[in-house]
Amino acid sequence: MAIGLEDAREALRLVFGHDDFRAGQIPVVESMLTGADVLAVMPTGAGKSLCFQVPALLMDGLTVVVSPLVALMEDQVAALRLSGVAADTINSSREREVNVDAWRRVASGETRLLYISPERLMTERMIGALQRLGPSMFAIDEAHCISRWGSAFRPEYERLSALRTAFPNARLAAFTATADPATREDICAKLFGSDPKVFVSGFDRPNITLSSEPRNRWQDQVLAFIKARPDHSGIIYALSRKNVGEIATFLTENGVTALPYHAGMDADQRRLHQDRFMTERPVVMVATIAFGMGIDKPDIRYVLHTHLPSNIEAYYQEIGRAGRDGAPAEAHMLFGLDDVRLRRRFIDGENSDADTQRREHKRLDALVAYAEASSCRRVMLLAYFGDQAEPCGNCDLCLNPPVLVDETGPARVALGAVEATGERFGVAHLIDILRGSENQKVLEFRHNRLAVHGQGTGKPKPWWQGFFRQLVSSGHLEIDIEGYGGLRLTASGREVLAGSATFECREIVTRKPKPEARPKADAPELSPENAALMDRLKAHRLELARERSVPPYVIFHDRTLIAMAETRPADREAFLALPGVGKAKADQFAESFLTLLNTDAVA
Ligand code: ADP
Ligand code: ZN
Repeated sequence: MAIGLEDAREALRLVFGHDDFRAGQIPVVESMLTGADVLAVMPTGAGKSLCFQVPALLMDGLTVVVSPLVALMEDQVAALRLSGVAADTINSSREREVNVDAWRRVASGETRLLYISPERLMTERMIGALQRLGPSMFAIDEAHCISRWGSAFRPEYERLSALRTAFPNARLAAFTATADPATREDICAKLFGSDPKVFVSGFDRPNITLSSEPRNRWQDQVLAFIKARPDHSGIIYALSRKNVGEIATFLTENGVTALPYHAGMDADQRRLHQDRFMTERPVVMVATIAFGMGIDKPDIRYVLHTHLPSNIEAYYQEIGRAGRDGAPAEAHMLFGLDDVRLRRRFIDGENSDADTQRREHKRLDALVAYAEASSCRRVMLLAYFGDQAEPCGNCDLCLNPPVLVDETGPARVALGAVEATGERFGVAHLIDILRGSENQKVLEFRHNRLAVHGQGTGKPKPWWQGFFRQLVSSGHLEIDIEGYGGLRLTASGREVLAGSATFECREIVTRKPKPEARPKADAPELSPENAALMDRLKAHRLELARERSVPPYVIFHDRTLIAMAETRPADREAFLALPGVGKAKADQFAESFLTLLNTDAVA
């Protein structure tokens, strides 16, 4: 008889302790069970792993899981084993003998899921050996890494395009959290010979409050943000390793528990910081984008960008790490025109063809427009991924609608300065001219003789900075990268300059009020009594995790501990009914947790 959804539900309950699949998982699991190739785009936290783990348990034969990060593979395999699933990994962090042992289990047919990195998988030897075994499925995690359009292209992922020919009878399932339509198309073309079934579930993460503001004095802005959220853990994403160091040091000096994380640090230090972030509260992780992929900490309450990320996809992926538990979380971004210039340089410096570069610039444009948006940010963000939405009521622009003002006059002055100087100077110099400076550069180019010189003295410098940013983000000016970042007029800019169009922009407030913590943004509430018990449960979990050298969430998620604290199960049966407790985990952990709960009840 064919295997169906009911069988999958039963395995889900028995092995993983979950009552049912989530709505977004059902169609994916169903079509995988029918043997179709699948591409599933599901937001972070939606539960992609179970979409292939459960079918893998129900099908005959081996499932090979391709995953880019060794640490992540180790954690997933540890978690599966604790749930009683025969999972293995072969990877470069392990001793040869350990890998050989794992392969022996794979070859004997004992292993159900083999986690492996793409570079290990795509060797002639491994492909040959697997061909003899005839695996039934390949599950490819973080599949956007295959696409050059994606934010995280990895050449070794591109080689996965040979899988279809090497294993014509295996089903392929690809998973990713971020793929705009172009990236999806690219994944399909590279990975699947024919068209797979594509599932895209909602991109919206309604529990994340979106906001963005220009970067004026980052120290004040970052510190105010962090200090307003003293009980919460979060991630600060910085542009470079150097920035990471600066920000972490600055915060530490100001009494914040802030840990740096970037690829230039040695592996032990990174691991240590990651462990502290996963287990302590509150901790601020200050990181480059090297930190985050596969981080399964459900209660990250905010992601703060100190600079513009590389594009909207990257931004969406990075903020997606906040609030995976579904409780309110925040994504706040600081940005400046310098960021835009730098990002454009990065794109042009890349070794890619003109077409790719043009496309990358467009993707960056979308993010700049998002940063400077004057109406609902969520509507813009979702529109980028092809989703329609109503104004959300949960972004800074919905909560505090900006005042739009007609600034055609100043716009003509600013655009006039760009034209009069030959469209090759940057913002700083243009503002000097408008503000009537007679510094060396102004005098050298005789810009003090221009009609626009001194025409902008009525407004302070930060006002003009904000104003130029809006002229750029609204497409009236563009940054000329080949010309060293000078500003150029666009067609619409010329219209305003010529007086045939007006220019409306957001009111520019040069002293912004400090961001307040939104009271909504709290972790799920526990009574004081239950909170104390929760702490003891967490300590016990940490002990169990340390004994097994796995992160705590691999033992039980917070969700499970919260349910434990709230319902206080008295026996094994009640323990099994907790969310996230399957048979194998009950066998291993019920006793010690029940003992703890019992002592707690007596005490
Ligand atoms: P993703 O890879 O999509 O970011 P994960 O696979 O890490 O998400 O799952 C996120 C969390 O959701 C995990 O803690 C997982 O145990 C939980 N989860 C997934 N599916 C279900 C389900 N059907 N019922 C309850 N919890 C689930
Ligand atoms: Zn909104």
